[in-house]
Amino acid sequence: MEKRDYYEVLGLQKGASDAEIKKAYRQMAKKYHPDLNPDNPEAEAKFKEVNEANDVLSDPDKKARYDQFGFAGVDPSYGAGAGSGGSGGFGGFGGFSGGFSGGVDLGDIFDNIFGGGFSGGSRSNPNAPRRGSDIVVSLSIGFMEACKGITHDIEINRVETCEECGGSGAKKGTTAKTCPDCRGTGKVNVRQQTMFGMMQTTKTCGKCGGKGKVIDTPCPACGGNGVSQKKTTITVNIPAGINDGQTIRLAGKGNAGTNGGSRGDLKVRISVRPDKVFERDGDNILVEVPLTYTQAALGAEIDIPTIDGSMKFTIPAGTQPGKVFTIKGKGVQHCQRNGRGDQLVSVFVEVPTNLNKKQKEALQAFEDTLEGKNYSKRTSFFDKIKDLFNGEQ
Ligand SMILES: [Zn+2]
Ligand SMILES: [Zn+2]
Repeated sequence: MEKRDYYEVLGLQKGASDAEIKKAYRQMAKKYHPDLNPDNPEAEAKFKEVNEANDVLSDPDKKARYDQFGFAGVDPSYGAGAGSGGSGGFGGFGGFSGGFSGGVDLGDIFDNIFGGGFSGGSRSNPNAPRRGSDIVVSLSIGFMEACKGITHDIEINRVETCEECGGSGAKKGTTAKTCPDCRGTGKVNVRQQTMFGMMQTTKTCGKCGGKGKVIDTPCPACGGNGVSQKKTTITVNIPAGINDGQTIRLAGKGNAGTNGGSRGDLKVRISVRPDKVFERDGDNILVEVPLTYTQAALGAEIDIPTIDGSMKFTIPAGTQPGKVFTIKGKGVQHCQRNGRGDQLVSVFVEVPTNLNKKQKEALQAFEDTLEGKNYSKRTSFFDKIKDLFNGEQ
């Protein structure tokens, strides 16, 4: 069996994450496990292949070498078959690298030798079904709309399969014909002079782009692409409780795929405009309410704005500035579960200004009646200061 790219073996693209590798390995190993495939030499071979791929890709050190040098980076017997060990730390490349003058990048060399064959493989088949790309749009909504949820129509420019040619790209009534350069294979052989002598490599056919087919008379509607951009209106249901920066994903509403591939997704990134009165902290609503000096001292029933409208709220006597009251369940609807956040009401005391003479006298007369017990914080503060200056800290 011809050695396949380790990523390809696991059904991954180059650059797959550790988590993706782990997951793919588990799936593949299960699929081809000998216990589940008794007397199946093909599955057995696959199982070995999968394990070998995982052996390399799950080891950060081996993976790095494989990513740079391909099989030759992890298997001394592969390729040039040079002696083991060596200065460069590339396993089997010690003896090998010595043969070149300085400044030669081993990565380049192996790209040249093994190029194409190992990077990609199935990925490069232009006739394979390809999923359409995702469309990402931004949508700005009001603060209350985010709290309560809303339905929005948005207009997008979307790639659609050409109706005229059904995606073939050939003019109606005509069909694509087999590419004469590659005779339908999509690949051409190229002979190349390398430092190891003349080498023959396979390249994607330039005439047909690897499709194996060429179109003589392109579809006039799409210019032979088989797809065209079209304006479409999509209705987006924005759930109550969505927050600024969140994205709504509409599966299968993105660009059309090619060769029978599925559509991409539509991703709507929500930005929420700020409100004059309310602020949000997750699913809690924050409101700052000004109290008068007297309301804070005597207590009061005041009107408090909530996202459901105004409500009566009792401020207890002796409320201090900065006090935060919690009104349970008056916040924003939780997006993923039932229930709502809370409303947090923080109060501040507005100190009266522009007092006239009479008001000043009245206030002073009132102040003169107050004692230490009326000002517990102030009293303890000055007690502390006294201690400080007496050196009793
Ligand atoms: Zn067309
Ligand atoms: Zn061709």
